[in-house]
Amino acid sequence: MDLSKFIRNIEHFPKDGVHFKDITPLLADSAAMADGLTQLMALVGDEKIDKVAAIESRGFFFGTLLAQNLNAGFVPIRKPGKLPYKTLKEPYQLEYGIDALEIHEDAILKGERVLLHDDVLATGGTMKAACKLIESLGGEIVQCNFLLELEFLNGIQKLKNRPVKSLLKY
Ligand code: 5GP
Repeated sequence: MDLSKFIRNIEHFPKDGVHFKDITPLLADSAAMADGLTQLMALVGDEKIDKVAAIESRGFFFGTLLAQNLNAGFVPIRKPGKLPYKTLKEPYQLEYGIDALEIHEDAILKGERVLLHDDVLATGGTMKAACKLIESLGGEIVQCNFLLELEFLNGIQKLKNRPVKSLLKY
């Protein structure tokens, strides 16, 4: 199935000049979701995965489905102050200002094979911070996995030698 039909372009969101890819039409269609999961699973191939870690909040939609289908545990990576237990924190640069991501410090065991998932790869800052959290805990990043990649922003460059796969490219 061509999933690009389920991605809606929103001009000037969340601010002027930004063209936002809205994935909610895809979330709203159960056949498209099922096919999206099958296609994301195909990107993973036959890699053995211990944990799927996904980034708040749009990464959670397919992240939990991927974890179930890979017989892996699910790990949420969240914005500061949301996780209740002891956390590790990684700041990252936004266009204006700075944000951060957190993970529970016991979420990944040393040597575990981790699939990282998010909905969109834009400039790559968010996924790079998530990669650093996983690596700080001793996890091995098997793949950075996305529904959608905005290739013209060259986010892949920020992710250096970590393997990156995306379903749809713009
Ligand atoms: P980056 O750090 O790569 O610049 O931005 C990626 C993060 O911002 C992801 O967590 C993603 O959810 C969000 N994001 C950036 N641009 C878009 C977009 O056009 N559509 C959606 N759905 N999310 C976006």
